[in-house]
Amino acid sequence: MQEKVIILLSGGQDSTTCLLQAIKEYSKENVEAISFIFNSEISKAVSCAKEICDTLKIKHSVFDAGVMWNVAGDKIVEGRNIIFLTLAGMYAESKNIKIIITGLQGDNSHPESSHPDCTEEFVINMNKTLNIAIGYDFKIKTPLMGLRKSEIWKISDDLGCMKFIADKTFSCYKGKDEHCMECSSCKERFEGYDEYIETKIDDGGLLV
Ligand SMILES: [Zn+2]
Repeated sequence: MQEKVIILLSGGQDSTTCLLQAIKEYSKENVEAISFIFNSEISKAVSCAKEICDTLKIKHSVFDAGVMWNVAGDKIVEGRNIIFLTLAGMYAESKNIKIIITGLQGDNSHPESSHPDCTEEFVINMNKTLNIAIGYDFKIKTPLMGLRKSEIWKISDDLGCMKFIADKTFSCYKGKDEHCMECSSCKERFEGYDEYIETKIDDGGLLV
């Protein structure tokens, strides 16, 4: 029997790429997504996550993790992935699902947007902690770990989903209706896109 998996889906480029990869690897009926609302300014991304799952016909659950902002103030909360993975683990155990996939990539090409809870070291230790704490044999998978944004664009292109990712996902920290093009998340996304397209042109590939 094919294993079931849960994707932590933010509605951004990385986690949506993980979702599309997982659909290919595990097939649609074995994949579900989980999202967290944690800041009204970032709710735009969650609405993208909903729309993505509706379009792909993937089961999607959304939970409120806003308590983090009550505790830490209105900013990018350091350590938030501890909370997201803990909640995902609790959810997964309740559904007898052992594989949790997250788009964390540990890329530090933009140091201002790299966080210690996005690294491989964090994920390995969090996996051990979850297994001990919940008494379950989870496997946290990070298929994008160590990749640059341009390489993540290539994955979506190879999956035939680059346009889908470009059109349907939202990566801006400011969370307005459009990408601000100024925050570190926007810069990474669009610089990575341009970098990939340039590589593709150099390789003689066709633009899509
Ligand atoms: Zn932005």
